[in-house]
Amino acid sequence: MRFETLAVHAGHDIDPSTGAVTPAIHPSTTFERDEDGSYTKGYVYARVGNPNRTALEECLASLEGGASCAAFASGSAATMAVFQSLSPGDHVVAPKDVYHGTAQILTNILALWGLETTFVDMTDLAQVEQAIRPNTRLIWVETPSNPLLKITDVAKVADIAHRSGAVCVCDNTWATPALQRPLELGADMVVHATTKYLGGHSDVTGGAVVAKEDDGHFQKIHLIQGTGGAIPSAFDCWLVLRGIRTLPYRMRAHSENAAAVAAFLDRHPSVEAVYYPGLREHPGHATAASQMSLFGGMVSVQIYAGRDAAGKDAAGRDAAGRDAAMKVAAKVKLFTRATSLGGTGSLIEHRASVENYGVVPGQETGTPENLLRMSIGLEHPDDLIQDLAQALE
Ligand SMILES: *Cc1c(COP(=O)(O)O)cnc(C)c1O
Repeated sequence: MRFETLAVHAGHDIDPSTGAVTPAIHPSTTFERDEDGSYTKGYVYARVGNPNRTALEECLASLEGGASCAAFASGSAATMAVFQSLSPGDHVVAPKDVYHGTAQILTNILALWGLETTFVDMTDLAQVEQAIRPNTRLIWVETPSNPLLKITDVAKVADIAHRSGAVCVCDNTWATPALQRPLELGADMVVHATTKYLGGHSDVTGGAVVAKEDDGHFQKIHLIQGTGGAIPSAFDCWLVLRGIRTLPYRMRAHSENAAAVAAFLDRHPSVEAVYYPGLREHPGHATAASQMSLFGGMVSVQIYAGRDAAGKDAAGRDAAGRDAAMKVAAKVKLFTRATSLGGTGSLIEHRASVENYGVVPGQETGTPENLLRMSIGLEHPDDLIQDLAQALE
């Protein structure tokens, strides 16, 4: 079956008892045993398994081309479970510009538990090779990355991982399986924040791990899910599955709109730099074109601040750059000033300040102060461009 058909049908059966075409939501926390004490219907207790979760997991495994999936209460809970499936003393290689929540999990939580991490520029494969140690067990990939939309060659990094006896895990939140299939490129597992494009409507928090093989490693993640209990509710699973039904069409529109916005910004005199892998001058354009079917809905832009990039204030921050970016964010009318991505409405955010929100001193972000990140929604692209044009004036 083709992707669009899978998105509509995977994990879905007409309810045999009622004929309902839409799945029922099962809030039940417990399930009846048979007279002989067995559970022939397959469910025991809702933390361990629930019909809505099963449906979502089957759908996600099928969309990514994996053998099995475990759904979680958030993308971060899914990420946490992947790292918890390793052992203290193990070593992880992760990108320097990994999602800031993932960096915090590694640096501030799992480092205390004995997990070691080396952060590298993953667009440079030599740096990945050099970071490998005898105890390296996992290489984490995120592509396109956040917020600079750097592109990592998934097949080449997976190859380095496998030659080193490590697994390659790819955070596929930004591309989604509609645009990029990391398991086919050689990754062993895929992680998602279903909070973003898969849910697609900014109304549900969730995460998932999809594994190419239902092997011992994945079984451990499954155990962490059911025993650790960071599980999504039945309704949350239902919402994500409902969102997935339109995923292929939404991703096409997000990509088309983002390409139009990026092309507009690329020509604008108030713009210092645009980051969109669909632009020919983007350094990762060729790799993105080879491993993604379209370039996605995320665009970052640096606003021209009439100073050279070295213009820092007393705290070492680029105050002029921050002001220039904040002014544009303040003037938009159609875009909403908010973090996150993947919903129907376009969002814009000053990324450096949100990454520094509540952060441990000394771990401030390297994201440029004049950078705005945009999640391009499903509005008409001309309306979005008009809004940005008046904000940049
Ligand atoms: C949002 C996000 C996460 C974390 O997901 P939550 O559901 O917010 O915990 C992880 N990775 C990427 C790339 C994300 O965008």
